[in-house]
Amino acid sequence: MKKVLTNICYLCGKPLGPPTNADHPVMQQLFAPEIRRKYNISKLLTLGVHKSCNTAYKHDEDYFVRTLMPFARGSESGNAIYAKVLNDYRVGKEVLLTRKVLREFDPTPGGLILPGGKVVKRFESERLRRVAWKMVRGYTSITRVKCFPNNERESRTDISQVQLQLHGLRVASRRGLHQLRREDRGADP
Ligand SMILES: [Zn+2]
Repeated sequence: MKKVLTNICYLCGKPLGPPTNADHPVMQQLFAPEIRRKYNISKLLTLGVHKSCNTAYKHDEDYFVRTLMPFARGSESGNAIYAKVLNDYRVGKEVLLTRKVLREFDPTPGGLILPGGKVVKRFESERLRRVAWKMVRGYTSITRVKCFPNNERESRTDISQVQLQLHGLRVASRRGLHQLRREDRGADP
């Protein structure tokens, strides 16, 4: 773990003082443990932040990983995090959150049958925005490009790109939904 020394908590913009802890601006949990071991990702950069500022993001970061995870399959890292989330579910970790994400898939939105076997995937966009913006702020703090305050909104270009990407994720294949549901049923006793 490489620590970047700083006197300011990049999450709230105030001077650092105890209790503090090390925050991963690029979330460590985006990478499954086996990927972290294989590629030595445990050495991700960290920034000192107030402990309370750090923990205030935990639930949204957990949601971020799980709600986007179904779309990450196909890459080595995506497959690994997909398998990890389902395994966590089977052993009783984050069960409610994973079930919530499963309910975000809707094969008949508003009673409509979508063409081509498509389903709708809904997101809590403000939670995704908050986590994405945290990563942008952390990265820019590390690279000393600019330290953004928490209440500063993204530039129009940045947010429109995020919205475009989210729009592209809104429709998932029915096959993916069926697989998730099959695995969901398999996880229940
Ligand atoms: Zn802080």
